[in-house]
Amino acid sequence: LAPILLHFLYSTATPYTTLPSVLLLGPPGAGKTALTTLFERGPLDLPLAKTHTSQVPSAIELSINSDDPSSASYKTNLDEAGATAKKFLLVDTPGHPKLRASSLAHLNSAEPTIKSSLVSDGGAKSKIKAVVFMVDAAALADGDALPSTAEYLYDVLLTLQKRFHSRNGSRAPASMPVLVAANKLDLFTALPAALVKSNLEAELGRIRAARSKGLLDSGVGQDDLAAGEEGDWLGGDGSEKFSFAQMMEFDVDVDVIGGSVTGDGPGAEKWWKWIGERV
Ligand code: GDP
Repeated sequence: LAPILLHFLYSTATPYTTLPSVLLLGPPGAGKTALTTLFERGPLDLPLAKTHTSQVPSAIELSINSDDPSSASYKTNLDEAGATAKKFLLVDTPGHPKLRASSLAHLNSAEPTIKSSLVSDGGAKSKIKAVVFMVDAAALADGDALPSTAEYLYDVLLTLQKRFHSRNGSRAPASMPVLVAANKLDLFTALPAALVKSNLEAELGRIRAARSKGLLDSGVGQDDLAAGEEGDWLGGDGSEKFSFAQMMEFDVDVDVIGGSVTGDGPGAEKWWKWIGERV
């Protein structure tokens, strides 16, 4: 009987592959691996796992209190608390510029999915429910990291914007929430979240202007720009300044929230709650 019972338990267990995913993006060194380790293990009193150097995304399975995600903490042991757990995958991606295209490719459809064979051998796909774009708020403070960070974020947001137009029959694509997680706020040199937001918006605006100028210089006329090439213009038309709010038009809802993974800072609770409300 035991093997039959075991088989039964096995086959009725929720397969890994149907869990929804949260995609973790961002430049190298932002703290993605540290965050993954924190959520997986709880408060970090052990040495951190090594940074993610592999070329493929890695995923971990996490649980959140589905009775009340807003009151949940990643520090709570859900089994002990007797709470109903909602499970999801946090998919950490390599931040290296050469590997970004494959991370972005996952977002490039009306119903973004990621192959869960990353996690198990099943061929099924996991639905991406939200994107967390992690940035190093201390590195952004000295300005050097701003252009490259914004460049990556621009491509993420533009991919999601283009996705808005890729309809599946008459159904509009599901909205995609994006959390810009301003990390390392334990460091006194780090920019506060409000400045991370405004600096990124200003830089995204600069990139947008530069890219459309590039198109003009390359011989694409104003009329062509208006007609077809506006596909590369991030955010709403006719606005001089870029703001994240312009992404709402494409059902891309961007929040910028500060936090820290290590050190004596604000911690990661707000990010955890944000995720919990969206999986
Ligand atoms: P990844 O490349 O995005 O995966 O970045 P890692 O997780 O490897 O982190 C890069 C470095 O930043 C490591 O040395 C981490 O210890 C450090 N780090 C991560 N989060 C924080 C934080 O909140 N505060 C500080 N001070 N350092 C952090």
